[in-house]
Amino acid sequence: MKKIQMVDLHSQYLNIKSEIDQQIQEVIDSCAFINGPAVHAFQNNFEQYLGVKHVIPCANGTDALQVSMMALGLQPGDEVITSSFTFIATAEVIALLKLTPVLVDVDPDTFNIDPKAIERAITPKTRAIVPVHLFGQAAPMEEIMALAKKHHLYIVEDNCQATGSDYIFEDGSRKKSGTIGHIGCTSFFPSKNLGCYGDGGAIFTNDDDLAKQMRVVVNHGMTVRYYHDYIGVNSRLDSIQAAILKVKLSHLDEYASKRRAVADFYDKAFGHQTKLKIPVRYSKSNHVFHQYTLVSQGIDRKALIEFLATKGVPAMIYYPVPLHMQKAYLDPRYKPGDFPVTEHLCETVFSLPMHTELDQEQLNYITSNVLEFLNRT
Ligand SMILES: *Cc1c(COP(=O)(O)O)cnc(C)c1O
Repeated sequence: MKKIQMVDLHSQYLNIKSEIDQQIQEVIDSCAFINGPAVHAFQNNFEQYLGVKHVIPCANGTDALQVSMMALGLQPGDEVITSSFTFIATAEVIALLKLTPVLVDVDPDTFNIDPKAIERAITPKTRAIVPVHLFGQAAPMEEIMALAKKHHLYIVEDNCQATGSDYIFEDGSRKKSGTIGHIGCTSFFPSKNLGCYGDGGAIFTNDDDLAKQMRVVVNHGMTVRYYHDYIGVNSRLDSIQAAILKVKLSHLDEYASKRRAVADFYDKAFGHQTKLKIPVRYSKSNHVFHQYTLVSQGIDRKALIEFLATKGVPAMIYYPVPLHMQKAYLDPRYKPGDFPVTEHLCETVFSLPMHTELDQEQLNYITSNVLEFLNRT
């Protein structure tokens, strides 16, 4: 059996090797390493795929979030509401810009930000909400957009884990996650659903003015060459990464189907186990399973993970510590117990291998070992 990994980028590469190698070689032959034709081609393809007016490529997902908030003109002291159960980058850029992160708890089923908790957290200082489409499933965007409208707030979607997922509106229409709020952000970190072979990111918007401003911010605040009207940053997607992304974008929907098939198999294996809660699929999103995350119920999670490790089955905890309990983010406004759902999830969740190259033998092996542990305890 092939070695089981959380993500198997090498096997995926071997399946698209000739396309990838040719694209990389073309960039090297052209030596157009920065802002070359590959970047523009990928940008156009991605705009079409997402059905969004503007894609602004940048250096990584964290920059995408930072540039969004800079372009919105948020000022120190402005409050930005986000989820207490997410990767640190979401809160990090808020703190770096001296904005005030306001955390709210999540829904215990979907792990996504809870709109009722958002509404309770809104104050006269609130300027923006950053919903995170966690683990590949879209947050409840209609409720969140309604709050934005009512309270005149910006929505910046952290779509780093959900590239390619659809949000399904009440009337049945669909939009890609990340294209519903004022701005959407994504990451092309290698293990993300659309990943490159290094760092990369992108920002999406349908707003022409915001797009123009974000293109200025990512390019040193420069409006005319060597005239800097704003303090910006240097954040670019390089041409080799764009060339790789062009190839991988053409496989993205097929990759999402493969991930869903893995999730279906895990669901079937674990759906009747009382000691595990399978991920709940929310009807408004076609989950793209960046992660397959189970909630353990009344079992020793650490012992399970250690048992699996002895069998060569990796399992990870995303995330072990809630934002308000991270050392760098300790804040007198918050104390343990303030976000009970997040705190419970941090103590009980674990994620199993999830990628596009898992074969049936590996899946059988993973599930039978998890079940063996459950039967023993
Ligand atoms: C990966 C990720 C980011 C940051 O992306 P980078 O490209 O690593 O900077 C931000 N938010 C979430 C939710 C992520 O998963």
